[in-house]
Amino acid sequence: MENLIEIESFHKKNIVQRVIGHVKGAKKSPTIIAFGGIHGNEPAGINALQQVFKRIKDENISLIGNFYGISGNINAISENIRFKNVDLNRIWTKEEILKLPLNKELYEESKEQYEIYIIIKDILKKEKGPFYFLDLHTTSSVTEPFITISDSLNNRNFSSHFTIPTILGIEEYLDGPLLTYINEFGHISVGFEAGQHESAVSVDNCIAFLWLALVASKCVKKEEIKNYDFYKNSLTLFSEDQDFYKIDFKYSIKPFEVFKMVKGYKNFREIVKHELLAHSNGNEIQSHIKGKIFMPLYQKKGDDGFFIISRISKFWLKTSRIARKLRFHNFLKLLPGVSSDKNNSYTLIVNPKTAQFLATDIFHLFGYRKKILKNDKLYFIKRDRKISEFI
Ligand SMILES: [Zn+2]
Repeated sequence: MENLIEIESFHKKNIVQRVIGHVKGAKKSPTIIAFGGIHGNEPAGINALQQVFKRIKDENISLIGNFYGISGNINAISENIRFKNVDLNRIWTKEEILKLPLNKELYEESKEQYEIYIIIKDILKKEKGPFYFLDLHTTSSVTEPFITISDSLNNRNFSSHFTIPTILGIEEYLDGPLLTYINEFGHISVGFEAGQHESAVSVDNCIAFLWLALVASKCVKKEEIKNYDFYKNSLTLFSEDQDFYKIDFKYSIKPFEVFKMVKGYKNFREIVKHELLAHSNGNEIQSHIKGKIFMPLYQKKGDDGFFIISRISKFWLKTSRIARKLRFHNFLKLLPGVSSDKNNSYTLIVNPKTAQFLATDIFHLFGYRKKILKNDKLYFIKRDRKISEFI
């Protein structure tokens, strides 16, 4: 592949620091916090952040609010591996975080997590909102850039500024991503997948995304960035639409399973029913539905083999927006088999039989995502929420 990124140089030169950059603007708000390298084999985000901070300095670009760049899994970055012991983007749960200050024998990742956690907490305490969290990633397969968000209306509004596909509700299929945790406190948080890990275009896409995000969040005026239109166009080039997609299926790789994706799947490629997608321990894995392939796994580490996604209709998007604004979700609580969780106002406890009858789509419509099955009950967690103290 041409134009490979030189990643080894990052750590040797000791370039990767936890805080890649911080620029204070004329006002206290908004505050933008961007992460790069949460996965150690994805250096594009860090590279892009370094370049953007350098340009702000070199060209004396004035900011209105605050802009922070934070690096993720520094240890893994130095070895160009996704993670050493645990995936740093799968451990952001309350249980894990509560354990952090108490546990002295932590995995490398948990130590890094604790540092990042303290920084986030500190920023949220001393700076002024609105806060926008951006997480820069790349994928093992070839892909056009896309966005992933939890399905809250504020996330949707923000992602509408970018003319690239947006995938809703991936957190329903993943445990403990950083952004889902941040989202629980009501802050806008958007994941950006820039392209393939080693492709130099991924760095350019991250740079374009960062400038567009700084403008969309009103942290920088468009006029301050000479080639703003170039950035805008460079992301638009990849895709003619900015459609929203939902996840219909995830293939989970089991421990000790030998999983091999059929070669050559580009992200978002259309697939038909019964199409041969991968092999598991030598046996064929065929698609049981039609749709588009999403995040096919072409690297050794990772438990998600592939996803199948489909486009969400404009009608559904509009209906769900209206329903949530009118707070129709309160009607759900009146249904038999559905009750509010007394400990958490954003959670509905649902009898699995009721859930089957109502179909998960209804809960999605009102902004609830199925999260856990506990004591024979399903817990649906609402994504739209008020700002609360980060803990
Ligand atoms: Zn990643």
